[in-house]
Amino acid sequence: MKTKIYDIQKFNDQAMAHIKEAADILKKGGLVAFPTETVYGLGADALNPQAVAAIYATKGRPSDNPMIVHVAGMDQLYELSSLQSEVITKLTKRFWPGPLTLVLPKKEKVPDVTTGGLSTIAIRMPDHPVALELIKQSGCPIAAPSANLSGRPSPTKGDHVIEDLNGKIPMILKGGNCRVGIESTVLDLTSEIPTILRPGILTQGDLEMVIGDKVVLDPALDRKKHQEILSPKAPGMKYTHYAPKAEMIVIRGNQDRVRIEIERLKKVNEEKGRIVGVILFEEQAFRQAAHDFFAKLRLLDDQGVDLILAGALNDENPIGFAVMNRMLKSAGYHIIEV
Ligand code: AMP
Ligand code: MG
Repeated sequence: MKTKIYDIQKFNDQAMAHIKEAADILKKGGLVAFPTETVYGLGADALNPQAVAAIYATKGRPSDNPMIVHVAGMDQLYELSSLQSEVITKLTKRFWPGPLTLVLPKKEKVPDVTTGGLSTIAIRMPDHPVALELIKQSGCPIAAPSANLSGRPSPTKGDHVIEDLNGKIPMILKGGNCRVGIESTVLDLTSEIPTILRPGILTQGDLEMVIGDKVVLDPALDRKKHQEILSPKAPGMKYTHYAPKAEMIVIRGNQDRVRIEIERLKKVNEEKGRIVGVILFEEQAFRQAAHDFFAKLRLLDDQGVDLILAGALNDENPIGFAVMNRMLKSAGYHIIEV
């Protein structure tokens, strides 16, 4: 399949025409990759089961891993879920459009394939002008997981999407580099206490402040336990994820010792003829780390490294915690403590 690629830089007439063309593809049941502020998404009409099935097939995504449905306003939210509550109002007023996904009971008209057979639906309003315009033009809620092949690092630049999906879908809309760089915080509002199923840039503290009440982390995210032992409620949290082609090891501990150990391991492995890449973020630069992490993985893969040595971030910081959630998965939980 020939993939049309449009780079949307400014909102001029030509850009609008390109977005309209993309919206027409969605209306007819086709797939379009598009930018959001978190990572790029691979979208289809959320109410068209064949279209959504094509997302799973294209990504090679397990069919019990549901998608996030993207909306452009509150009316669209209430078309998908009948739950209305003060908590929803407070959260959406403060954080939408933005990197917060709400898990709510789904209405009957939402096809099972969109929610991986669950009775709940994950919904978010993305904070990116191209995404919002695409949703409005198409007139449909857009189901969209990240626009990478299943298992690969999430795409945060248009070129990452091209690398994974060129030739597999009819259209890719490029719209610059993603501002946030990691996926949205997923908050389950169907449990008694609002529960974070996937950590993101919006933290437990941010959410508690706005709700004015307690928010908990899903026990499967507990950083003290090995995360794969518990079975996560966000189905997507259980699969091998974000994996670079290279072997990857996370080195965790005191910053100085981490640096020394990375240097030592780098030397030892280079002496064996291996190409070694290093990921070491500035200690307190958590947002920068979130922004850069997936792009670094892909960059090192492009450079053909055999081994990636990554310094762990302080996961007592909630954004550090969100990045570590991805970093540990990328490394298949291969950790060296120093
Ligand atoms: P992705 O779109 O690839 O970033 O993945 C979406 C994430 O949201 C995955 O971890 C899904 O398992 C999770 N998710 C989507 N729908 C639901 C739902 N109804 N209940 C719980 N988690 C969900
Ligand atoms: Mg994903």
